[in-house]
Amino acid sequence: MKRHGMLMAAFAACVVWAVPAAEKKILPEYDVVVCGGGPAGIGASIAAARQGLKTLVIELNGCVGGTSTSGALPFWLGAYRDSIPYKRMLAENIPYSKLKREKRAVGGIFDELMDKIRAEGDGVGPGVMGQTAKYPGLDRLGCHDEFTFDIETGKRVMEQEMLAAGVHIRYYARVIGARRVGDRVEGVTFVDKSGIQFVPAKVVIDCTGDADVVAAAGFATYKGDRKTGQMTGAGIVAHMENIDSAELEKYLNEGNDPRFRPIIAKALKENPGADWPERLIIFPMVQEGVFMVNGGQSFYGYDGTDGESMTQLTIRARKRAEALVDLFRRYLPGGKNCRLRLTAPYPGVRETRRIEAERQLTEDDLLEGTEFPDVIALAGRHFDLARPTDKKVGGGEQAGVQTFGEKKVKRGVTAIPYRALLPKGADNLIVAGRCIGADGQAMGPCRIMSTCFATGQAAGTAAKLKIAAGCGFRDVDTDALRSALRKAGAIVDP
Ligand SMILES: Cc1cc2nc3c(=O)[nH]c(=O)nc-3n(C[C@H](O)[C@H](O)[C@H](O)COP(=O)(O)OP(=O)(O)OC[C@H]3O[C@@H](n4cnc5c(N)ncnc54)[C@H](O)[C@@H]3O)c2cc1C
Repeated sequence: MKRHGMLMAAFAACVVWAVPAAEKKILPEYDVVVCGGGPAGIGASIAAARQGLKTLVIELNGCVGGTSTSGALPFWLGAYRDSIPYKRMLAENIPYSKLKREKRAVGGIFDELMDKIRAEGDGVGPGVMGQTAKYPGLDRLGCHDEFTFDIETGKRVMEQEMLAAGVHIRYYARVIGARRVGDRVEGVTFVDKSGIQFVPAKVVIDCTGDADVVAAAGFATYKGDRKTGQMTGAGIVAHMENIDSAELEKYLNEGNDPRFRPIIAKALKENPGADWPERLIIFPMVQEGVFMVNGGQSFYGYDGTDGESMTQLTIRARKRAEALVDLFRRYLPGGKNCRLRLTAPYPGVRETRRIEAERQLTEDDLLEGTEFPDVIALAGRHFDLARPTDKKVGGGEQAGVQTFGEKKVKRGVTAIPYRALLPKGADNLIVAGRCIGADGQAMGPCRIMSTCFATGQAAGTAAKLKIAAGCGFRDVDTDALRSALRKAGAIVDP
């Protein structure tokens, strides 16, 4: 009996140990809690903190920058209006340096960060890819209007800029819930090494990319294409190093396919069953001989909001990266001594959940150039989301091709209304980045990183107006918001 009692006591101790106490610790209240420190979260938090708001960023990874750093994609697109379809550039043989650049689509905090990274000598653009000062022919790989930078410099510069604005950053922390009362969110629950914690907030900005907070709070969201639920490809970006850039440039200057289709067709014929894609999309990074593999590392049928799915994607893509080293060494011009430099520690997810917004931006809005009175950000990019059922390029997990330039965004620029950032029915919750209320193909331009900085800046600026007026986000004076954004260097006039 005594022994049984001791066993029971030991078992009880185990149970206590095994079950974490809910919301073990309550943090002091913040004016603004920004969930996610990607491009949107950076823009939102800097804008909020600069206006004197006590601001916390809760970030899952150990750095800010989101897909551009943790996802190994240091390639901010969309800085210019009417980004010229790459196909036209190749078809008309226009050297990138000769493309007429129209007006800028994004400025503000995005511009400041580019300036800071460039000042350190570790970033080029917008409108220039890495290595192209020395090897201009590399721009045939797909230059649009990108800003390319060194990932480590980018991480540090963005982090320092946030700290300088007064932002408090909490790394390695995942937001797992939101406490909702009526139409208000009283704060969010997150978990890190210190356990499960709750942080009260006057305002919450959801910049998780997946609308995690909006979904947890029970406001309406939906995933992928509204009709079919299909989502475009997700991937794990890989970087290859030790490529002979001069030899690769020579191949491109001779007018060969920048997607390497004939080379890969030959390779596949000689190696039936090899795990190689039918085409590759690679971009030069700032370091000589280093190239980012984007197309070739993306796959369909995975869901960025499903933990098991993301694990399987990671394993799948890592296997592919290894296979690509073999392809590069044996077949790619300049690839003889190639090595795998890295696979991204964080998956690249193009689309998952988005919010049901006070005003949903639709594909028709983009095609017809709908004029909104409350524009708070612009997107310069064209339609570019592929669906698994679109025109096939490889079939199966690699089906789909980005629909560059096939449909035109009227006026060459997408105007994003403030209401697209507002989850329907919410009082003090706002979103920015790739989970804003943009339907189907309208999401394509809005999810591009420069525009995510811009919607973030708008959300952070709106937070100040909301708190100062003591109103809900829906009642913020949008003329005042637009003029505050203009004053801060943002571009809000289409
Ligand atoms: C393969 C691929 C290629 C792309 N190519 C380009 C390109 O060349 N140029 C370009 O401009 N755009 C590109 N994009 C699009 C772009 O990268 C994203 O749309 C953009 O980064 C979205 O910004 P965001 O801030 O909304 O989200 P993200 O960049 O995804 O950042 C979200 C942040 O939130 C954090 N987070 C997520 N959930 C939680 C949580 N629950 N709790 C705490 N933190 C959380 C994440 O760790 C991350 O740091 C590409 C996307 C993919 C997937």
